[in-house]
Amino acid sequence: MKAGSHFEKILEKGLFAVTGELHPPKGNNVSVVKRKGELLKGYVDAVNVTDNQTATVRMSSIATSSLLIQMGIEPVMQMTTRDRNRIAIQSDIFGALALGIRNMLCLTGDHQTFGNQVDAKNVYDLDSIQLVDCARTMRNQGTLLGGEEKIDGDIKLFIGAAANPSADPLELQVIRLAKKVNAGADFIQTSCVHDIDRFKEWMKMVRDQGLHKKVHILAGVTPLKSGDSGRYMKKNFPGVTIPDSLIERMDKARNPEEEGIKICVEQIKELRTIDGVHGIHIMTLEWEEKVRQITEMGGLLPRPKVE
Ligand SMILES: Cc1cc2nc3c(=O)[nH]c(=O)nc-3n(C[C@H](O)[C@H](O)[C@H](O)COP(=O)(O)OP(=O)(O)OC[C@H]3O[C@@H](n4cnc5c(N)ncnc54)[C@H](O)[C@@H]3O)c2cc1C
Repeated sequence: MKAGSHFEKILEKGLFAVTGELHPPKGNNVSVVKRKGELLKGYVDAVNVTDNQTATVRMSSIATSSLLIQMGIEPVMQMTTRDRNRIAIQSDIFGALALGIRNMLCLTGDHQTFGNQVDAKNVYDLDSIQLVDCARTMRNQGTLLGGEEKIDGDIKLFIGAAANPSADPLELQVIRLAKKVNAGADFIQTSCVHDIDRFKEWMKMVRDQGLHKKVHILAGVTPLKSGDSGRYMKKNFPGVTIPDSLIERMDKARNPEEEGIKICVEQIKELRTIDGVHGIHIMTLEWEEKVRQITEMGGLLPRPKVE
C-alpha cells in the first residue's frame, strides 16, 4: 500500500470505486461543508474537494478536506499548480499529510481568466505532470524535488491526475495520460463523459497501450438538469462533448431533472461494463442531494467496507 487510504484499498482489492465531489464554500462557512459532506457520506468511497475550480476563490481544499476527515469522510484533496510554486506545493503537501489527508488529485487548474480574480498572476511553476512527479518523488525517494534534501517524515500519498477523454485530438489525450502514468499517477479521474462512444474509442487506445493495467481509471459523470444546462456545458466547459441527441432528449422530457438522473444512471451502467474502467467519479456540480439517488439507482450501494 502506498498510502493505506480507504480509496486505495477499494481499488487495490479490485472493487469498483465510487467518488463524489464537493465544492468548498465561497467563504469560511463551515456549515456548508458539513451539509454537503452529510449528503455524500456513505454513498461514495471518497470525496474530491475542488481547489478554487474555475479559478474562483473558495475555502482552501486542504482546510475543507481536514473538516471532512473530522466528519469521518475520506477526502481526495485536489491541488492545482496555478496558484502555487514548488515551495508552496511541497509545503502544502506536508501540511495536508499532517492533517491526515492521504489522497491527492494533481491538476494544472482552470485558467484565471475563467474566475472572479481575472487580474491574478498565474504561477504554473510546475504543470500537472510535474506535480505528480513531485508527489511521487517525495513519497518514493523521501526527498524534496531536486532529490537532495531528505524529508523529515513518511510521505503516504495515493496520487491521482485528471484526463479528458472528449477533447480533440483524442490521441493527444492518450499521450497526456501516458505521461501522467509515467510520472507516477496511481489513479485517474476523467472529466464528465456524455459521449460514451467517444469514451470507448479513447479507452481502446488506452488499452492498446496497456495503460489500464498501470493505473486505476475512474470515469467522470455529471447529471444534466435541463437541455439548457447541457448547451451551457457544451459551450463553456473546455473539452466537454455532449451529443445533440442527449440535449434533445432533455428538451423533450416532461421532468428534465428526473430525466437527467435517469441518463446519468444509464451512463454509469454502461461505463461500468468497459474493460479498464475501475470506478465512477460523480461530479454533481452543487447537486449533492442527488448522489444518494444516483448511486442507489446505479446499483452502487451499499459501498463495501475494507480492512
Ligand atoms: C476531475 C477534474 C477535476 C478538476 N478540478 C479542478 C479544480 O479543483 N480546480 C481547477 O482550477 N480546475 C479543475 N479542473 C479543471 C482542469 O484543471 C482543467 O480542465 C485543465 O485544463 C485540464 O486538466 P489538468 O489540470 O490535468 O491539465 P493538464 O492535463 O495538465 O493540461 C495542461 C494544459 O494543457 C491544455 N490541454 C490539454 N489538452 C489539450 C488539447 N487537446 N488541446 C489543447 N490544449 C490542451 C489544458 O488546457 C491545460 O492548459 C478539473 C478537471 C477535472 C477533469
